[in-house]
Amino acid sequence: MVIFKEAATLSQYLQQQALGGRSIGFVPTMGALHEGHLSLIRKSQEMAGYTVCSIFINPTQFNNPEDFRNYPVTIEQDIEKLVSAGCDLLFLPSVAEIYPEGYRQPHYDLGPIETVLEGAFRPGHFQGVCAVVDRLLQIVNPHHLFMGQKDYQQCIVVNRMLKLTGRLEAIRLHLAPTAREQDGLAMSSRNLRLTPDQRQLAPALFQVLSYVRDHRGQASAQALEEEAGRRLQAAGFQTDYVSIRSSADLMPATNGETEVALVAASLGPVRLIDNLLLS
Ligand code: AMP
Repeated sequence: MVIFKEAATLSQYLQQQALGGRSIGFVPTMGALHEGHLSLIRKSQEMAGYTVCSIFINPTQFNNPEDFRNYPVTIEQDIEKLVSAGCDLLFLPSVAEIYPEGYRQPHYDLGPIETVLEGAFRPGHFQGVCAVVDRLLQIVNPHHLFMGQKDYQQCIVVNRMLKLTGRLEAIRLHLAPTAREQDGLAMSSRNLRLTPDQRQLAPALFQVLSYVRDHRGQASAQALEEEAGRRLQAAGFQTDYVSIRSSADLMPATNGETEVALVAASLGPVRLIDNLLLS
């Protein structure tokens, strides 16, 4: 696996490299890699001839400075995992490479998706996500982009950004299912910050989502959201939201639409998100 730290040399390398007509698959991450990230790498290897991964903890998407400061960094292990997985290229840029002097963050007209759920609790977050993915796509110029359903709203937002920037035809966005621990907890880099006691409590998130899925036929969305909230509180979580939405646009679902249940809740300082399709 080759590693690049500079955007210009990476772009040049990918242009000059005789890829023999192979397409480029791209997996952007913030590191502290786990099986969920590696499932994206494998998906890319299935669909594209050359796989690029980036590790960049993007400051512009953190609305909480403490969350940014405490974000786990495990670069040595990450590199080992990527080499074992057979990733072709790792992009490991500094903040100045992604946001060079004179860079001005564009404003993306994301519509209502920007301010619901995660957007309501993390103002500016999705503008930051779009900014970094937009920059990374300019640099890597892939044919395929791989993202996890774990960050469901982020996938919808990035799809919209691709549309806004006229790339929907050139770049295919693929979603991968959420990789989970044996007890159901969605894999997340932030799980590393849980204390052993919190780690024991954390699967309640998935249990609550499963409860919602299993009872959706028998109860109203509101009744299920309230019950889910009670269960999370009883399990020790501080809940930001638990909500049943249309899976297409995350607006309140109308009759017959496919639904998704989404949750964001904290154990102490560690905020976790998860979601489950209901049908
Ligand atoms: P992150 O490093 O958290 O920014 O995540 C990088 C990519 O990996 C994003 O597209 C995430 O949605 C995806 N991802 C994170 N956790 C999981 C998981 N448990 N299963 C599948 N994909 C995931």
